[in-house]
Amino acid sequence: MASDITGNRALGAYGITIFTTMSALAIEHNAINLGQGFPDEEGPLDIRQAAADALLNGSNQYPPAPGIPALRQAVADHDKRFYGYDYVTPDHVLVCSGATEALTAALMGLLNPGDEVVLFEPLYDSYLPIIEQIGAVPRLVKLCPPDWAVPTAALEAAFSDKTKLVVLNSPMNPTGKLFTDEELEAIAALCVRHQVPALCDEVYEHLVFDGQHHTPLMSFEGMADLAIRVGSAGKTFSLTGWKVGYITAAPYLIDMIGKAHQFLTFTTPPDLQTAVAYGLGKPDGYFKELTSDLQGKRDRLADGLREVGFIVHPAAGTYFLTADYAPLMERLGIDEPAAAFCERMTRDAGVAAVPVSAFYAPERVSGTPLPDEVRTVVRFCFSKRHEVLDEAVKRLAAYVERG
Ligand code: PMP
Ligand code: GLN
Repeated sequence: MASDITGNRALGAYGITIFTTMSALAIEHNAINLGQGFPDEEGPLDIRQAAADALLNGSNQYPPAPGIPALRQAVADHDKRFYGYDYVTPDHVLVCSGATEALTAALMGLLNPGDEVVLFEPLYDSYLPIIEQIGAVPRLVKLCPPDWAVPTAALEAAFSDKTKLVVLNSPMNPTGKLFTDEELEAIAALCVRHQVPALCDEVYEHLVFDGQHHTPLMSFEGMADLAIRVGSAGKTFSLTGWKVGYITAAPYLIDMIGKAHQFLTFTTPPDLQTAVAYGLGKPDGYFKELTSDLQGKRDRLADGLREVGFIVHPAAGTYFLTADYAPLMERLGIDEPAAAFCERMTRDAGVAAVPVSAFYAPERVSGTPLPDEVRTVVRFCFSKRHEVLDEAVKRLAAYVERG
């Protein structure tokens, strides 16, 4: 390899993602993969059938760059149905190839080098590399278990006259946290005061448990023109490989984000867009069943992990719960951080999870060490069949028993 070919400096500082790493390790050790977040059952047959029909009978040529009209309309209708947004029209909607592209297009379309971006840690893995690649500057607000509450003073201090964007992920991966109304109100007030848009990663909007509901930041006063809502068909229809995402935002923001989208992917497969448009129109019962099914899985895994001896933190939504193995360390004869423990658990117990530390910025970026409370916390994905969750708990119990 030519030694003067060094690649992009910002991206070169990152390794292979924790999801790819743990999935590969799970395969190597024949472990149950509760690491990378994906369901182990296929999404609804009627939606897949709609995609197949569209593929065979519809057009397979470039759809319009902002998305097919039927899907833009379906997203507008969805937002009106679930959040009461009468003002949302298809011009407020941009279809992207997954939420990942939507987030990247939004960051690229809105930021310039030197701009500051306020984010909450733990954070989803794709945000920081893109922000660094653009040359923008992350201002991080750290949240800690067990409740991952927003420290109001630190949040206010993170804003400056250089702040150009806030990034918020609620319901939150990896914590399962649903930001409270008070927290959302405080964030909205700061966005309005500083006139800063908020990029709201809401891919888990329909995966909220215990009778609670997701309220988008867009619903708060002054946010209709500042919030950028990102959804994902992957999560809402248990079809994570489809990579169909959608943005709802004021048309002036959609235009800016569209400038990046047209050069990133330009468009998204038309058959999948047609099927997602159909899916978003499914009756309320579909969305309720999705939630209650996942809630049952969360409870099953949480109960099992508690019996094994983990401290299980509350998880109000998403595919994930977090758990602390500190109470098991003496029995297992270990005292190691979560990354090492996840490798050990995959190899020796046959169950893969991901360390929550992977969702905190590297110290070279944040300037502060990992909070102590997070050192021994791991994330388990519970969007798996009950028998798979039971087997994972059985393996963990046997592993702890062996000591
Ligand atoms: N944001 C968060 C918080 C996620 O967990 C995911 C899921 N992997 C994504 C974005 C990306 O979604 P998509 O697969 O639609 O790109
Ligand atoms: N969002 C998924 C998770 O958090 C992973 C997606 C990916 O592998 N990039 O596990």
